[in-house]
Amino acid sequence: MPLLIWSGRWILRHPYRLARSCWIRSKELFMQHWLKGSQRKPRLLLVDDQRINILTLHELFREECDIFMAMTGEQALETCRKLSPDLILLDVHMEGLDGHEVCRRLKKDPKIRDIPVIFVTAQGTEEDEVLGLELGAVDFIVKPINPIIVRARVNTHLTLKYQSDMLRSLAQLDGLTGVANRRKFDEELERTWRRSLREKTELSIIMIDIDYFKRYNDHYGHLQGDTCLRSVAGALATTVNRPYDLLARYGGEEFVCLLPNTDLNGAVVVAERMQAGVQALQLEHSGSEIGQLLTVSMGVSAMMANAMDRPQVLMEAADKQLYQAKQAGRARIRFGS
Ligand code: GH3
Ligand code: MG
Ligand code: MG
Repeated sequence: MPLLIWSGRWILRHPYRLARSCWIRSKELFMQHWLKGSQRKPRLLLVDDQRINILTLHELFREECDIFMAMTGEQALETCRKLSPDLILLDVHMEGLDGHEVCRRLKKDPKIRDIPVIFVTAQGTEEDEVLGLELGAVDFIVKPINPIIVRARVNTHLTLKYQSDMLRSLAQLDGLTGVANRRKFDEELERTWRRSLREKTELSIIMIDIDYFKRYNDHYGHLQGDTCLRSVAGALATTVNRPYDLLARYGGEEFVCLLPNTDLNGAVVVAERMQAGVQALQLEHSGSEIGQLLTVSMGVSAMMANAMDRPQVLMEAADKQLYQAKQAGRARIRFGS
């Protein structure tokens, strides 16, 4: 029965049917945003030292969410670090680390502090709620739980989490080509540099620059130039396949690739694959002095991070190699430190 034609008298006479209708509607609406936009189910972490409470919540969300469970505060924090849930339903009163302490520690850890927390507690006092919110929780649910309220709140906070994840990832992408942007690259470079310092591993950079691209624009027009940039980005992106490798648009017609835990030989292999990928596009470039097809030049450099230098040293080294590739006639790879 549609919501609009429910009269007060009908509600009084059929409270059970009202609850059931609301339940079905909330089930239909649940996670609409998430399911439309995401390739995966939302991840929900249930934390409670009473098995029965976890089971009740599990029953409510098991169809739409991937559910993780923890029965202690320590387990909860460990699960957050390992599995990055999208939302935590956190019991306040537990043996050992209680919910408040878990939330306090979570908010101090930059890796997991963005995971939203909803406190679930038997004590619905105002002070409890204030303390929970002060600790950084996004909401507060009182036990015994009401399924419709819990589902509505979980739905709201999963939707918000989805939207903020989307915004964050859009802010890291280049609008024209869809690969990572310069900001994302700079952040990753810093992070990878620090990891290389800790783990004593090499990292490599490939700088990629399209040859005679100004002439391409002059000859084919700016719109065709944009299409060409997208094709080149797509071809380059398919050649980097390790999870930590990163291809980014560095600016204009320049791309950069960051290869953690990779030495110079490995990076040159990737650069050769990239060059073959661009060649395979067979993009006509009649203004090029090299031939009839669009080509790229690349500079490759590798090093192990050290406490004396900044990652810019590695960038400068790759840039120097790129300059030499251009000087030597373009459409080639130059590498070295
Ligand atoms: P070289 O072989 O020495 O690299 O010469 P080049 O012409 O490729 O390099 P130059 O730096 O002289 O020119 C780069 C050109 O890239 C200038 C600009 O027209 C073009 N460009 C930069 N960003 C964009 C963009 O977003 N879209 C398009 N269509 N063109 C762009
Ligand atoms: Mg350039
Ligand atoms: Mg160029």
